[in-house]
Amino acid sequence: MTNPTHAQVTFNEFGLPVATVFDDIYFNNENGLAESNYVFIQHNDLLTRWQLERERPFVIAESGFGTGLNLLVCWEQFLQHAPADATLHFISFEKHPLTPADLARALAAFPQLSEPAAELIELYPPAEPGCHRRHLANGRIILDLWIGDIHQQLPAWLPHAADSVDAWFLDGFAPDKNPDMWQPELYAAMATSCVAGATFATFTAAGSVRRGLQQAGFEVAKVKGFGRKREMLCGQLPKVAARPQPPQTEAVTIIGGGIAAACVAHELSQAGVSTEIFSTAVADAASGNPQGAVYPLLHAERSPLADYFCMAFGYATGFYQQQTPALWHPVGVVQLAYTDARQQRYNKISQDSASGGPGYDTALVRAQTSAETQQLWQALPPCPSLYYPSGGWLSPRQVVSQLLANHLVHQGAVLQRISRSSAADGQWQLEFADGQVEHRSRVVLACGANLKHLLEPFAVKLQNVRGQVTQVKANAVSAECPLVVCYKGYFTPAVAGLHCVGATYARDSEDLSTRTADEQENLSNLQDNLAPLHWPQELEPVANRAAIRNTTRDHFPLVGELEEGLWVLGGLGSRGFTAAPLAANALTAALLQRPLPLPAQLWQRLQPQRLRNE
Ligand code: SAM
Repeated sequence: MTNPTHAQVTFNEFGLPVATVFDDIYFNNENGLAESNYVFIQHNDLLTRWQLERERPFVIAESGFGTGLNLLVCWEQFLQHAPADATLHFISFEKHPLTPADLARALAAFPQLSEPAAELIELYPPAEPGCHRRHLANGRIILDLWIGDIHQQLPAWLPHAADSVDAWFLDGFAPDKNPDMWQPELYAAMATSCVAGATFATFTAAGSVRRGLQQAGFEVAKVKGFGRKREMLCGQLPKVAARPQPPQTEAVTIIGGGIAAACVAHELSQAGVSTEIFSTAVADAASGNPQGAVYPLLHAERSPLADYFCMAFGYATGFYQQQTPALWHPVGVVQLAYTDARQQRYNKISQDSASGGPGYDTALVRAQTSAETQQLWQALPPCPSLYYPSGGWLSPRQVVSQLLANHLVHQGAVLQRISRSSAADGQWQLEFADGQVEHRSRVVLACGANLKHLLEPFAVKLQNVRGQVTQVKANAVSAECPLVVCYKGYFTPAVAGLHCVGATYARDSEDLSTRTADEQENLSNLQDNLAPLHWPQELEPVANRAAIRNTTRDHFPLVGELEEGLWVLGGLGSRGFTAAPLAANALTAALLQRPLPLPAQLWQRLQPQRLRNE
């Protein structure tokens, strides 16, 4: 499971990892854990600082995630010392992530950390560039793992991370073995990212590092190093308090009752913000299908849209695993190359970067021969395929209902118009179909197909696309289907004796009545694409459902602040359950002015203003 991004690691006579390319160790042979405590926790004075009450998460940034040992040590200590409602945001940059197998082997050296280590390994991201946000320790710890050279990632991170970091851990390999990392640009970015009074610590005492940090404005002290090491550096940034922070707890009003609204409500309440939701009904539209697939959208060449989906997919699978585990089935997704053109495209998607392909991590997607396709399930046709091992399916309607279960939802509220009120202090005026009028200062519109007409007065152009799914009765063969099968349409494993066959895609109509022609289209796509198999021919349709998806011309979701206090999350198309959790997390981070879980250029692409007067 290695690709060129992964670290090349050997294990030394103590069983500890050594980076072959850098010829350096990940942690001290004698006592890595004590060194981590001494250098980073003690010299940033974290145990004392963590005990203080604060409104926002405590933010640590680290150069060089390596084995994640520093994260795990912080994790243990933070849970012991910080108030029970405090959150730690740990942001780390890593050019060459360890493979999951090497990570597990390296962390096995610390049996006392086995529980957090197991949780980290389970949620460890594929080696894909960009930010991978994960929630650990029941939400007490947020990990942002930025994969890529720190000098490439800093410009993508910094625009939304200024004045946010409380403590820096400078932990790349030794400056003489890894000089490229220890550059003035890093120290300057550290200074910009720091809050007033932020601190740093590093195991090295190299003169060039000391001078570089001083030039960036840090006060640097040379102190006794760990164990036999003579010296190390630590210090702080004298800086005036920065811009005022936005209100962290003022309530937010959400419009919508599908996956977008549910995720926004969840993320805001996790961040300590109270919400109220106005909704026509819970999961009654595009989020109301009985089954839905979750897998990334990848392209044959690296593209910003595929990058978004790489990050969003990993975030989403972790999200469902943690929030709705009984409703999430990570059984894998196979995409059949049912035509020659598809086969060529899938070949390209699975090519490594040395052969000119996008070089996706095989933990994310892998190519299968005909024989391998049939090993996934013998009743699949003998054709090549792409396989997404961590994809799966869920029950959209139930997931949304469960996510919204503990939130205040006003149902039956059909929003007809939203406008800036001249009377009520410039608040947003919400006019509902039953004549009710409300005024609110912070509103998130996350109402799927209804966004199209609600955003027309703001000159934002969206498209609605009708989709119909067909439920069919399982037969003796299909009942054994173990994974989601995608072709021109998709076919899900049976639940209560029924499969879901989807979905049509029609721009022409917003009609919600079901159509026989659409049922026929769903069935014949399945039968034709899986020919010459017999089992798809014999499936009896029993129910249909039509709904309207909200889409954008460039296929990116719509996420951000359209006008002051008016936020939007929409345009999720057919992939709402993959795209929404990360989009909602990013929206929440932006609303609270906290570091974003996305590169700045990608966040820019999601902004609703891009669709104005298109
Ligand atoms: N903090 C780690 C831990 O707790 O296990 C140990 C870090 S190890 C000593 C140094 C790490 O820095 C390695 O994983 C290496 O790949 C990473 N690194 C080196 N140069 C880098 C760069 N330019 N950008 C990002 N990461 C880098």
